[in-house]
Amino acid sequence: VPLHEAVLGRAQEYGDRAALVDAVSGREISYAQLDGMTRRVAAGLAELGIQHGDVIALYSPNTILYPVVFYGATRAGATVTTVNALYTTDELHKQLVDSKAKLLVTISLFLPVATAAIEGTDVGEIFVCDQAEGYRSVQDLLASTAPEPSVAIDPAVDVAVLPYSSGTTGAAKGVMLTHRNIATNLVQAEATFQMEEGERIIAILPFFHIYGQSVLMNLPFRFGATVVVLPKFELQQFLTTLDEQKITRAFVAPPIVLALAKHPAVDGVDLSALKYLTSAAAPLDAELAEACAKRLGLHGVMQCYGMTELSPGTHAVPQDDPEPPPGAVGKLFPSTEQRLVGADGNDVGEGEIGELWIRGPQVMKGYLGRLAETDATIDREGWLHTGDLARVDERGYLYIVDRVKELIKYHGYQVPPAELEAVLLSDERIADAAVIGVLDEGNEVPKAFVVPMPGSGLTEADVMEYVAARVAPYKKVRQVEFIEAVPKAASGKILRRELRAREAARE
Ligand code: ATP
Ligand code: MG
Repeated sequence: VPLHEAVLGRAQEYGDRAALVDAVSGREISYAQLDGMTRRVAAGLAELGIQHGDVIALYSPNTILYPVVFYGATRAGATVTTVNALYTTDELHKQLVDSKAKLLVTISLFLPVATAAIEGTDVGEIFVCDQAEGYRSVQDLLASTAPEPSVAIDPAVDVAVLPYSSGTTGAAKGVMLTHRNIATNLVQAEATFQMEEGERIIAILPFFHIYGQSVLMNLPFRFGATVVVLPKFELQQFLTTLDEQKITRAFVAPPIVLALAKHPAVDGVDLSALKYLTSAAAPLDAELAEACAKRLGLHGVMQCYGMTELSPGTHAVPQDDPEPPPGAVGKLFPSTEQRLVGADGNDVGEGEIGELWIRGPQVMKGYLGRLAETDATIDREGWLHTGDLARVDERGYLYIVDRVKELIKYHGYQVPPAELEAVLLSDERIADAAVIGVLDEGNEVPKAFVVPMPGSGLTEADVMEYVAARVAPYKKVRQVEFIEAVPKAASGKILRRELRAREAARE
């Protein structure tokens, strides 16, 4: 079935129940309204001349209208290309050119960037979600009296969403996800995230990223949960909203787990309604996860794993497992196959580390306009090579070690930076940390960038000693630099390439 049917098929049944709540203004959209609004947006888009297969760019922070535009566009048979809300004019321009978007939907605050970015692209008009003089708005689409278009969507072929990979390791690539890719992944994920009646879920991750789209829009709307929307992450506001809105479930990335585990502000709020906390998008250390769970009185921090190219999920910790192993990202989803492959191209032995390969209905159609890269990622037998190193334990739980590309090669040994970051974060004197490989007299060595806790008096030597006492000698941190903040993407990933660029600029 088409994506919007998989997601909103039961919306009329849920009726007056709130689908979306704006945490700031208190405005609500009920399920019946959400369903009706997406149909009117589809009609309005068709009236504008948007046709089956056209691309619509959505460049906005989280708002309660985001899902309205998103599913309205897919209902019209269009492909939605979701744009990182932090993008600059140049970055947005590139995505508009690459995706050949015909329409751009944004918010008035972003108009200066948006108007400059559409120069020389196929974008014919900009619509705003709120209001701006001289621009048509989503309200105008909603006011359309045209009939809902009847488009014959082919779920296996038609691209519903064209998100761009995060660009953590290189240039962001347009990932073609069909209606079937996403709708099947929704069904695959459903068993692990049994949302109960009356659940209130906080939308703190960005909707533009595939992780947020899947767990904060697709899944909760299918289950009839209430999604409480925040425009951006700000710790105090996040905590107050958890408390005041009696949030039952939160999906986050490791930086938020870190804050929940270590920040003093957490003591000032009542988080007793919170039953489930899930983390994904980047490696999460087991010890940190335990510390966070303990502080919040939770049974554990459940992880899941995925990537844009996998629509996005393949593994999750089942929420009914009474003893989920700390550090595991989860168990394999149904109707999905996995292999762990060594450098020689053969499967590794039991319990050993190899590159994770995935085959299943959630594997993307391909990268847009990048045949060579698609062929390098999905092999002839349909296996998608994730670029992530992993191992599986005897219970079938998967553990992510790090990305193949990020490994530091220290004299023939391979050091995963994520492991050293976890060790560093276990030190109470350290607020945050990131590790990369740097050249020291021709050899690659691990260098730690450390944000010290205020007033800790931490020295470089302290950091090196702390790590040296806990890891094999070849993994020792050999250089330390104190910084004010670790550069991170909106999706919560450490941007190690930015640290590398800083190093390179110094040479
Ligand atoms: P790009 O491919 O453009 O460099 P990216 O890989 O960061 O960017 P995404 O598709 O957003 O783009 O992220 C997928 C990656 O995130 C995975 O390949 C993996 O490295 C990481 N990841 C996701 N979930 C987890 C998790 N639970 N634990 C560890 N790493 C994770
Ligand atoms: Mg990637």
